[in-house]
Amino acid sequence: MTAEERARDIALLVLDVDGVLTDGGLYYDDRGRISKRFHVQDGLGIKMAQSAGLECAVVTGLNSPAVAARVGELGIVEYHPGHTHKSPIIREICLRKNLELTQVAYLGDDWVDAAAMRLVGLPMAVVNAQPEIKALATWVSTVPGGHGAARETIAFILQAQGKYAALWEKWLHAD
Ligand SMILES: [Mg+2]
Repeated sequence: MTAEERARDIALLVLDVDGVLTDGGLYYDDRGRISKRFHVQDGLGIKMAQSAGLECAVVTGLNSPAVAARVGELGIVEYHPGHTHKSPIIREICLRKNLELTQVAYLGDDWVDAAAMRLVGLPMAVVNAQPEIKALATWVSTVPGGHGAARETIAFILQAQGKYAALWEKWLHAD
């Protein structure tokens, strides 16, 4: 099946954080606190997805207050930090929401994402992903993580679902 065909059934997009929602940079201040840089267009993309019935979840190996703040701002309910084993969390979300794994997309960049990508119906990678991760992916973004890759991913899924044009029309005539 092509990525477009798989995308039609997707109800849940699981996002990694570092290297996907960020460029992978970890900024340490002189007290050892980490800050991260997110892309504002990914934020609107996530809001668009939510409004179109495509839920976004964040499952990340690290646990950072900066990420918790960004995720909270975006209204992401399914936020699961501190999980280097991501498949059990994805299975648990699916059980709770009565979703099939074929209805799940996963956007990753590194080896920690491999097992989750093998689990879901639509494995996706950012263009800056490790080569093994790109090889597992049915679809690869053209822009890197932290530079609008999540936005591009969401646009791809919503286009495949035939929802994108209507969303654009709504924004075009929003005033
Ligand atoms: Mg990552």
